[in-house]
Amino acid sequence: TQNLLEVRNLTTGFHTERGFVKATDRVSLAIQEGQTLCIVGESGSGKSVTSLAIMRLIDYAGGFIESGEVLFKGDNLAAKKQTDMMRIRGSKMSMIFQDPMSALNPVFSVGDQIAETLRIHKHMSDKAAWNKAVEMLRLVGIPSPEIRARQYPHEMSGGMCQRVVIAMALACDPELLIADEPTTALDVTVQAQILDLLAKLKRELNTSILLITHDMGVAAEIADRIAVMYAGAIVEEGAVDEVFEQPRHPYTIGLLRSIPGIEGERGGELYTIKGSIPSINELPSGCRFHPRCPHVMERCLREEPPLMADERGHRAACWLDEVPKEGA
Ligand code: SF4
Ligand code: MG
Repeated sequence: TQNLLEVRNLTTGFHTERGFVKATDRVSLAIQEGQTLCIVGESGSGKSVTSLAIMRLIDYAGGFIESGEVLFKGDNLAAKKQTDMMRIRGSKMSMIFQDPMSALNPVFSVGDQIAETLRIHKHMSDKAAWNKAVEMLRLVGIPSPEIRARQYPHEMSGGMCQRVVIAMALACDPELLIADEPTTALDVTVQAQILDLLAKLKRELNTSILLITHDMGVAAEIADRIAVMYAGAIVEEGAVDEVFEQPRHPYTIGLLRSIPGIEGERGGELYTIKGSIPSINELPSGCRFHPRCPHVMERCLREEPPLMADERGHRAACWLDEVPKEGA
């Protein structure tokens, strides 16, 4: 199967009074049709900026793509004009954010907002767009959708609003849905329902999903592949079961050990990775993780490890794998 999205060496940044501030450093990743890729990492690791750059929304956030390519079905979005991007956003790819309220307009009914997207991108008549809006609300599990469609966002709970946002994002049948921490603002039971909904929609609609999360548990539940970001770069990437069962990068191992219920249950205390994430503009020499790494070697201080793939395409940026194993 071919890649729906392929990001190559994406370096992004922001102009500030202090000059150019880098936000992502040569990020490369790919999503196949119908697959879900989760980008995980602590806040400030560059996950959100990566997604904003893919959608070219970074331009509106005061940032820009310095170098690299964002190939969507082979077409480089990084080189497109915003007028072209406006046609692509909302129809071929759409995005949902953490806070559903910020994505909804308080003065229009939720049905009208979904219908508006369909009138713009699909040139539907008012009636056809309204009917499709009601159908989308039903698809995302909103009860009595004919009645709910006439309601305003403030008449709905946070979980219902996020369902409306998902309905709106999927109304034009996009090939790629980007979701940035879509459940973080919701309470725990609602979080699980929204994740189940995304998994169901992915199966039924065959939509590819790029999900950004700081929560390894969320990633475990929904991902086909996982990319782990640290200080602006991907440090590990692979199929979900391989990353969880045979993590290769010490940072990933630390993240996994800090999930409640895995090590925490037995050890009592939850594991925490010592130190904090460095600014990507003041990176340590060599391996960017070396000041926090329990396995740091002399070489790690001098040389930056590239992402190295094993025979199954599981990539990690760590020199440990290069150390000859005993008996090998
Ligand atoms: Fe640790 Fe060295 Fe691997 Fe970096 S390259 S993660 S410092 S062992
Ligand atoms: Mg973020």
